[in-house]
Amino acid sequence: PRPIDELYAALQDTSGKRKSVKVKDAVVHWFKMDLRLWDNTALAHAGEVAKKAGVPLICMYLVSPQDFEAHLRAPVRIDFMLRTLAVLRQDLAKLDIPLHVETVEKRNQIPDRILELMDEWGASHLFANMEYEADELRRERHLVRHLSGKGKSFEVVHDTCVVPPGRLQTGSGKQYAVYTPWYRSWVAYIHENLDLLEQFEPPGRNPESARNKFGHLFDCPIPGAPKNKALCDEEKRRYQKLWPCGEHEAVKRLESFCQERIGGYSDARNIPAGNGTSCLSVHLASGTISARTCVRTARDRNKTKRLNGGNNGIVTWISEVAWRDFYRHVLVNWPYVCMNKPFKPEYSNIAWSYNEEHFVAWCEGKTGFPFVDAAMRQLSNIGYMHNRCRMIAACFLAKDLLIDWRKGERYFMEHLIDGDFASNNGGWGFSASVGVDPQPYFRIFNPLLQSEKFDPNGEYIRKWVPELAGIEGKAIHDPYNRGAGDEARRTGYPRPIVEHKACRERALRAYKQGLENA
Ligand code: FAD
Repeated sequence: PRPIDELYAALQDTSGKRKSVKVKDAVVHWFKMDLRLWDNTALAHAGEVAKKAGVPLICMYLVSPQDFEAHLRAPVRIDFMLRTLAVLRQDLAKLDIPLHVETVEKRNQIPDRILELMDEWGASHLFANMEYEADELRRERHLVRHLSGKGKSFEVVHDTCVVPPGRLQTGSGKQYAVYTPWYRSWVAYIHENLDLLEQFEPPGRNPESARNKFGHLFDCPIPGAPKNKALCDEEKRRYQKLWPCGEHEAVKRLESFCQERIGGYSDARNIPAGNGTSCLSVHLASGTISARTCVRTARDRNKTKRLNGGNNGIVTWISEVAWRDFYRHVLVNWPYVCMNKPFKPEYSNIAWSYNEEHFVAWCEGKTGFPFVDAAMRQLSNIGYMHNRCRMIAACFLAKDLLIDWRKGERYFMEHLIDGDFASNNGGWGFSASVGVDPQPYFRIFNPLLQSEKFDPNGEYIRKWVPELAGIEGKAIHDPYNRGAGDEARRTGYPRPIVEHKACRERALRAYKQGLENA
């Protein structure tokens, strides 16, 4: 059975018992990747139960150093989360709600620690939003049964997707493995169930007893990043400026994007030198804004008040937010794709290369392909890469260098400020043709043509590859082969490490052979 079915079974089996639990001294909301007050499903439910019973709501966030090796790998991502927690704590304190933050050494100790804390606080009810990775689903399944056995109730609810995974099925009752028909069904389903876009209010103010009883929880310090993942002070300041954190910043960014730029999104979104996209991914990944709020806000600006039809920019942007839902739907239905396995087993036989020199050149942005190098340097400089460039850089690693895509997937997670397990895995599956709907025979981008098409004046390249800033005209896309070799050599820019045409043939052969050997 899928891990999500095991969780559903645990929720169903314990349903009667959980409903009969009486509210004691407090109700707890467990924050994970949902660091916001507005439009937070589990938090709103927890707040209602606490309010009805007239008891305080306590919030908690548990950090496990093991998370820093799993989902929260990039130092910039950890820094963003810790900064966000500080904002969240301030916002909660304004409502007299404490945020207890604690480090738990091992992830498997979390269920027992939660039970201890609930006993300490006299709490009977725990609420959390669902996370769809297999380990998290299994942990939550265990916790539902464990707490129920101790006379407590644990409610785990859908929140992060607009349409909960599993709701959409093909005409023959199967799960969709291709985006376009899934997206059509996603739009239709939301139009039929408009409550999916309704906004949850933040919890109300805690009763006065909260400060008297749980005063000590209000001062609990937020831990620092582990030494090997900590940014130096100067970097911290730089990232704070580049990526302001917290829910208020997320809302501000969404509103200004929707007011000023969403209309031009469908044309501007592919130009990495521009400012055509929302840059909301870091907020969606940390849960400082909900996907529901994004879709609702965009839809409300559409004259048709629909997700499809009307303003092209709005419709396209909503369809991009839908990709995020789609990859969670894939993660839930085929959990093995996120465990280092291709979607179709026959793609397991591709003979990947492990050429370390090529891999390092790719990571450092020194492949001699200016567009790819600009992309990789954007990532290491600001923890973010434009979507078009993510596709090209990933495709270049997997197809031109034929390097095992899992190395690239990992590298991205180690550097992205918006690193998100499902979207990153989905993006790599798409680019390396090992995910759902693989299409290896025509999804091989030519990095030079892509460069000319999406960075026609070389602005993006000049920004991130300063060695090439002095090269004029089209030569910037391929200096050694377009008469600017002397200038490139003088500034130390490398020659192309491979030849695209030959690599393309090699990749096609490797994919074909892999499939034949299956
Ligand atoms: P916008 O264009 O403004 O889109 C709005 C939102 O829609 C994004 O914030 C994001 O949440 C969602 N979205 C847009 N495109 C996609 C997509 N293709 N897949 C999933 N969601 C999408 N996105 C992540 O959030 N985290 C990742 O770790 C991640 N890794 C990726 C790796 C690869 C190889 C590829 C090809 C794509 C990856 N993406 C990832 C998707 C996409 O590149 C980013 O979401 C997008 O660039 C973020 O910029 P934005 O917020 O300005 O996006």
